Amino acid sequence: MLDVAIIGGGHNGLVAACYLAKAGLTVRLFEAGEELGGATASERVFEGIDAKLSRYSYLVSLLPDEIVRDLGLNFETITRRISSFTPFKSETGRDERLLISNDWNDADSAFASLGLDRDARSWRTLYGEIASVAPAIAGTFLSPLPTRDEMRKKIGSEAFDLLFTVPLGRTLLDRFDDDRVRGIVLTDGLIGTFTDAFDPELLVNRCFLYHLVGNGDGQWKVPRGGMGALVSELKRVALSHGVVIETGRAVESIKGRHVHFKDESVEARFIVAACSPTELARLQGGESTLPVTQGSQVKINMVLKQLPRLRSGVDPKDAFAGTFHIDESFDQLQRAFVAASGGSLPNPIPAEIYCHTLTDPSILAPELAAAGYHTLTLFALHTPYHLFVGENEKVKDEVRKRLLEQINSYLLDPIEECLARDVRGDLAIEIKSPIDLEEEIGLPLGNIFHADLTFPWREDHETIRWGSETEFENVFLAGAGSRRGGGVSGIGGQNAAMAILERLNRI
Ligand SMILES: Cc1cc2nc3c(=O)[nH]c(=O)nc-3n(C[C@H](O)[C@H](O)[C@H](O)COP(=O)(O)OP(=O)(O)OC[C@H]3O[C@@H](n4cnc5c(N)ncnc54)[C@H](O)[C@@H]3O)c2cc1C
Repeated sequence: MLDVAIIGGGHNGLVAACYLAKAGLTVRLFEAGEELGGATASERVFEGIDAKLSRYSYLVSLLPDEIVRDLGLNFETITRRISSFTPFKSETGRDERLLISNDWNDADSAFASLGLDRDARSWRTLYGEIASVAPAIAGTFLSPLPTRDEMRKKIGSEAFDLLFTVPLGRTLLDRFDDDRVRGIVLTDGLIGTFTDAFDPELLVNRCFLYHLVGNGDGQWKVPRGGMGALVSELKRVALSHGVVIETGRAVESIKGRHVHFKDESVEARFIVAACSPTELARLQGGESTLPVTQGSQVKINMVLKQLPRLRSGVDPKDAFAGTFHIDESFDQLQRAFVAASGGSLPNPIPAEIYCHTLTDPSILAPELAAAGYHTLTLFALHTPYHLFVGENEKVKDEVRKRLLEQINSYLLDPIEECLARDVRGDLAIEIKSPIDLEEEIGLPLGNIFHADLTFPWREDHETIRWGSETEFENVFLAGAGSRRGGGVSGIGGQNAAMAILERLNRI
């Protein structure tokens, strides 16, 4: 009998496999797809264009350095020079912008040039307060869950209330005057989460939290070589510790200690579900009780022959080097949520753009990099699953059209003229809706975190310890849907491995 069978070869399944095999257990990992990686896959998306895109996830913040060190991963992330760029039209119709550098002195002068001195101070204060507690919060992620009171003691009541009890929208209205600045901050509470700024369930705060504390500094960095570089490294380390990896092997059901496939079954002492909680419940013949809010993002991948020039006159190498916000003021975000909740596509659609290759050109073939090619990723908010049901392709076409028009309103060179063409002469652009994400990589309702994010502590009455335990003694959840698991973090995988090793008295 095997020690551990792992279902799912996304990065969390691989992290769990590495820790468990390194501790001497026999481990087999089964991945339904032909390739490993799940939402962390890198692919050559456009035939004839040698660019290896991070097809789904693209930036890393939450992966603890400790996991990289523990597993001996040869994996590096690179800091972006620019924090964010927000183009907008002034009241007189002039093209303006707010370009926020990662350097405080430059950032201050950017706010000041728009007369936003109070917002500059509030910005510093808010991010300063969070930065002062981020290491303490992130420091708990690889240990058993603290209780709510333990977390409150650890970070102090003020920070606890700011992060965990007052809806983010309230904080933003109280502290900032400018609608665009409020919007820039709010987006961190909305990426991958369909909610509004005053949500009493605090989904917005949960999402905001995980966007700001990763590795104790909350910096979102570019993975050198693309997201697939992480997967390749995890695979290398897993194999070196003797993990048996089988791709194209969809698990069909789980009963007791048995993992069943179409043609055979495997017996294992422990089962690690590195798939979604929804999929785990299906495999066990039931339904998951964990809340899953529908995914609400559209992702667009593009390859450009050259970066477009901007109407505001900012160098595109600056504008696209950080997070490029399009129509994401606080008011626009709130209106978009109301429209989407009521069944309409928002107009405008709030979105943000990232350019991987300005920070790390290594995902491009050298001749493309030398010729000035770049990759762009667009992530649109408030485009929920229900809007695409029954007419996925038609709505995607409309979303693409609207978003390109919105981008073009800030550009001198229309984006269509900058897009590269694939081997058939088609523009190098692809669009993924929440329905595509469900169909292609099994994200329930297209939710990029598998299930609703949870705060990184437990209530006193909860018996859960690592956040990966299930009602079945031998089954552990390791994917993004485990407590503290959302995003590219490996935390779900590490936590599940620790829960098993603790059971065996190996830690
Ligand atoms: C468009 C998009 C953009 C994102 N951007 C970012 C980002 O920039 N930064 C960030 O931190 N996070 C981002 N995320 C979220 C992040 O990518 C995911 O939360 C995380 O990668 C999930 O990893 P995982 O290993 O838990 O699960 P997954 O990557 O979902 O892997 C689960 C694996 O299990 C397999 N599987 C499922 N069922 C079975 C079965 N029955 N048998 C065998 N195998 C099975 C699946 O095929 C899949 O490979 C993004 C996600 C998406 C979709």
